[in-house]
Amino acid sequence: MSVIKINQKAYENNLKNIIKKVGNSSKIISVFKDNAYGHGAKILAPIAKSLGINFVAVKNEKEAYNLENFFENILILSHRPHGNENPKFIYTINEISKIQEYKIGTKIHLKIDTGMHRNGVYMENIEDAFLKIDKAKLNLEGIFTHFSSADEMDASFFVQREKFFQAKSLTQKRYENLIYHSYNSSALFRNQEIPQDEFFRIGIAQFGYGDKNLEKVLSLYAHKLSERILKSGQSVGYGRSFSTEKNLKIATYDLGYADGLFRYNGQGGLFLANNKKILGKISMDSFSCEDCGDEVCVFNDAEIWADFFNTISYEILVKLHPDIPRVLI
Ligand SMILES: *Cc1c(COP(=O)(O)O)cnc(C)c1O
Repeated sequence: MSVIKINQKAYENNLKNIIKKVGNSSKIISVFKDNAYGHGAKILAPIAKSLGINFVAVKNEKEAYNLENFFENILILSHRPHGNENPKFIYTINEISKIQEYKIGTKIHLKIDTGMHRNGVYMENIEDAFLKIDKAKLNLEGIFTHFSSADEMDASFFVQREKFFQAKSLTQKRYENLIYHSYNSSALFRNQEIPQDEFFRIGIAQFGYGDKNLEKVLSLYAHKLSERILKSGQSVGYGRSFSTEKNLKIATYDLGYADGLFRYNGQGGLFLANNKKILGKISMDSFSCEDCGDEVCVFNDAEIWADFFNTISYEILVKLHPDIPRVLI
């Protein structure tokens, strides 16, 4: 059975590193969306809690219910209002025209579109949104924005930050004791001065990506299904994309693209953590390689697979099937 090993110490060290950077664990909104980026929300929740995290962000209500016994504050990022919102959760307003569709009294954070143009209310419509929120008798607890290019050294980050400052001061004229947040992992790790009056929504950095002082938390293991000697000239797997020039002891392991691996087509050289090549194409439920014993580490750094597949570590991680057991090491 394939397994995902979660390194508890690494996760704790990363969180401690982040807490130190922001000054206080109460200013962190741990982003736990999509099963904590594939790491397993339920397995990490008690660890985060033990380090003082009491605020998380998730994708939808299902994820919020999954964590309701762990955290006091749960912000739902991608909610479509249905009028029966749970008073325990905090819901994002992504769209000004849907404000009246939330249940009276619902706790909300208003998202401001400062330049990403994905979700949220335009700067010029903030006052209008406030009127609608008051009319719908919603309980505004915070405002936030999201940067489109926090990981790049271009000017847009500063433009968006400036707009959010303006949004904050508009809000402060009308409401007291709201919370504000804009920084994600890469904004926090830009090594610039950080705002003192904000919370921080931290996702990928918790898991060890984005700064050299962080440690990778997740490693993915597969287990041997069978072994054989591949004779010179024989091939393994669909399409015969790999064939050996000399006799080779190979083995087939129990992890494939149905488990969330990207489908490698056998071209270009994709390597396991031990630097052995995957031989031939990845199948739905298995892959083959030189015999590496009963258990093999597929990867312990998603960046390597992300580079190979021309994507980002986020995608490699969240694709890992929720049915793969997650265990703490
Ligand atoms: C996913 C997400 C984050 C976390 O981003 P990281 O880059 O993983 O830190 C923060 N805010 C919003 C709105 C998100 O969707």
